[in-house]
Amino acid sequence: MKWQNHIIIGASFGAIINPVIIPVAVLGSTAPDWIEYILKIVGIKVKHRGVTHVVLYWLAAIAFFSLIADYHHIGLGFSIGGFSHVIADSFTIAGVPFSPTSDARFHLFGGKLRTGNAGEYVVAGIIAVLCATWVYYSPTSFKNSHDAETSGFMPFFYDWKKEYDSGVVDGAEWKENRLKFL
Ligand SMILES: [Zn+2]
Repeated sequence: MKWQNHIIIGASFGAIINPVIIPVAVLGSTAPDWIEYILKIVGIKVKHRGVTHVVLYWLAAIAFFSLIADYHHIGLGFSIGGFSHVIADSFTIAGVPFSPTSDARFHLFGGKLRTGNAGEYVVAGIIAVLCATWVYYSPTSFKNSHDAETSGFMPFFYDWKKEYDSGVVDGAEWKENRLKFL
């Protein structure tokens, strides 16, 4: 899956937990790919979509950071982003490994997506809409919050979503805007 779609999905997952973690979730949303890249650079042999894409590892990271220790939700945000990445990759034909001890690939919704096809934008769009809907209707959501730390994220998220839906924004523009918002 392309990075801009991973970023969209990671930000959407982050928004559900708490908008303040969106920036780290965005960083984590591409982590399984760039960690793989770094491991290769330092000479560690890794399979593509191997050890960095194990669903269980990211779930364990989420559990660790939400239950045991974290620093300003950074670990949680990062692992939510990484989890969103492997979930998104599970929509593709190649799939991802669910556990480190099994070679079986994990697929969601039949794993029909091909990387780079229009389908992955559709999936990212649907996930963004679902998450935005969740955030909007959830009674504890930050739309009701007057906390200065959290207000201001929703308008960004919403405007961008609207523009994306109407086809105004493409991946490159989104990347640019993402930097503004970070
Ligand atoms: Zn990946």
